[in-house]
Amino acid sequence: MQRFRLAPTPSGFLHRGNLFNFLLTEKRCWEAGGQLRLRIDDLDAARVRPQYLQHLFEVLPEAGIAWQDGPHTVAEQETQYRQALRLPQYQAILQTLATSGNLFACRCSRTQLARESVKGCYSGRCLRLNLPLDAPDVAWRVDTQAAATVVLHERRSGTLEADIHRVNPFFIVRRRDGLPAYQVASLSDDLEYGITQIVRGKDLLQSSFSQLFLARLLGERSFEAILFEHHDLLQRPDGEKLSKTAGDRLQSYDPSELLLQVAVLRQQVERMS
Ligand SMILES: [Zn+2]
Repeated sequence: MQRFRLAPTPSGFLHRGNLFNFLLTEKRCWEAGGQLRLRIDDLDAARVRPQYLQHLFEVLPEAGIAWQDGPHTVAEQETQYRQALRLPQYQAILQTLATSGNLFACRCSRTQLARESVKGCYSGRCLRLNLPLDAPDVAWRVDTQAAATVVLHERRSGTLEADIHRVNPFFIVRRRDGLPAYQVASLSDDLEYGITQIVRGKDLLQSSFSQLFLARLLGERSFEAILFEHHDLLQRPDGEKLSKTAGDRLQSYDPSELLLQVAVLRQQVERMS
């Protein structure tokens, strides 16, 4: 059985790009005779708002998207599925990584990082400091230097390869506030739910490689077998990126206009081979 997932982050109202991803995921799942799960990335409680969650549970059924597994109401999400309930699993992964000697503590402040980073990439300056991982107020980063090539199975192009140290050098696995990073929570959930295919935007290609790298460090071979599809991001007619904050958000549509939008997006998705 192929297992797919919709994985929205309720840090804003959904926009057409999110809906496009959901419709494509649903189509792929239907083609494969698979099972679809809704699993919500809500670990970063500071960014998640109840009205965004509510919006999600209104728009998805309105758009005719059906899923078999996961929450169907805000209450179910809050009481049974929120990621905070799976913190022990995330911590276990972090402990395994820490024990394997692949992590180092980074005490850089946001300002320091902005100053030190080359082309937005962390230079690894804390690596040589050898700070203890249990020091207060440190982030945990993974040492990517000795990494070999990471292989990713992509639906369209077959196999993609990348050197993780070039793609996402020394990426964070535990934030300074102690919360597991997105890469860890997302990987852990997909492992737990036995996900076999992931459909996501090209903007998350870097994350896919990072999660594959972590899976290899953890010896989680099943994750390496996942079939990915990284689709182009939906753009505005003027070529600009869609955003949750601009006029692209679905919250600003009345119900009939939402259905019109869904119909247009469904046509676009149907044209994708
Ligand atoms: Zn640092």
